[in-house]
Amino acid sequence: MTEPVRIQGLCKAFDNLDDPAKPVLAVNQVNLDINEGELVTLLGPSGCGKTTLLRMVAGFEEPTEGDIFFGDRRMNNVPPNRRDATMVFQSYAIFPHLSIFENVAFGLRLKSQSRKKIEKHVTEVLAMTGLSGMANRSPTQLSGGQQQRVALARAIVMEPRVLLFDEPLSNLDAKLRDQMRIEIRELQQRLGITSLYVTHDQVEAMSISDRIVVMRGGVVEQVGTPREIYSQPANRFVAEFIGRANFITAKVGEANTVDLAGARIALDAPIAASPGDSVTLLVRPEVVTLSPTEGIINGTVRRVMFLGNLTEYLIEVPGTDPWLVELSGPEAPTFTAGDTVRLSLPPSSIHVLAE
Ligand code: ATP
Repeated sequence: MTEPVRIQGLCKAFDNLDDPAKPVLAVNQVNLDINEGELVTLLGPSGCGKTTLLRMVAGFEEPTEGDIFFGDRRMNNVPPNRRDATMVFQSYAIFPHLSIFENVAFGLRLKSQSRKKIEKHVTEVLAMTGLSGMANRSPTQLSGGQQQRVALARAIVMEPRVLLFDEPLSNLDAKLRDQMRIEIRELQQRLGITSLYVTHDQVEAMSISDRIVVMRGGVVEQVGTPREIYSQPANRFVAEFIGRANFITAKVGEANTVDLAGARIALDAPIAASPGDSVTLLVRPEVVTLSPTEGIINGTVRRVMFLGNLTEYLIEVPGTDPWLVELSGPEAPTFTAGDTVRLSLPPSSIHVLAE
């Protein structure tokens, strides 16, 4: 039923009202394969082109160049309602004058299915989305989370080949967002529907996706699993966009070593630079440990912030920008501002960034 999606050389140029000579290239030569049953997220800052890309897959926007395939079928000229792709919107797009049952049944009625079949199918989908017992309610009597469930039910009842999500959780409060993203992910995996999901929330992208596509200025910067994107970001932009990061300038030494802040560290992975070159190292705050005496780099605690599940330290290190360090767990030592400390970091956790 579901199908892989292939996006090839996709571009979208919009007219630029401010400067007609320079069209806005919202999506620029994007290639992307979404495997059958996979959930892929488009992630990036406002204006990076993720909504435009999603809308082209849905058929709401016509590509300027490039192709979109569902399975073997080229979709470019297929109207949205013939693509078998359904979209879950941020704004729910629910009919307020229809009951929940009728909202979910709406698309099936347009397909002229029998009453009995509709009844059975809608009841099943209401159960799947946690809406059993609410069939006869008006959407106006629902909470935001329940309305989003109705929007989800409306999309999956159509048994689409591709599910599209346009920032579906943006209107919900933080706690409900956490809960709904688990529900969406569980349902998507249970049904195995190929899905494309747009968000600008990196935590949401990390928690819901099989793979993430990080975009900037219409261009794909990196495609990878959440783990790959986090620990091996393609460049500084990706590293900064996902999670917190220290960028430490170091000098490449002989035999795969780097010199930083007075310490020489032998890296696990080969360095794509020559001895004497300057490189930027990505060091995530949670990979660094602090000790009063043991370590390879000297530092002084400048600021301490206790955040409950972790304590965040800003450490002054001679010769580099201050380091952000996060310590957590019951065994973590505690320090106060002004303490001198020694820093350690496992070589396997250091990632050399491509400039
Ligand atoms: P956001 O998270 O803010 O929704 P986005 O990553 O989804 O951002 P898009 O909405 O795809 O970004 O917009 C990409 C670029 O294309 C932006 O520069 C935007 O101003 C421009 N753009 C989008 N739609 C149109 C349009 N209909 N006409 C002209 N320019 C547009």
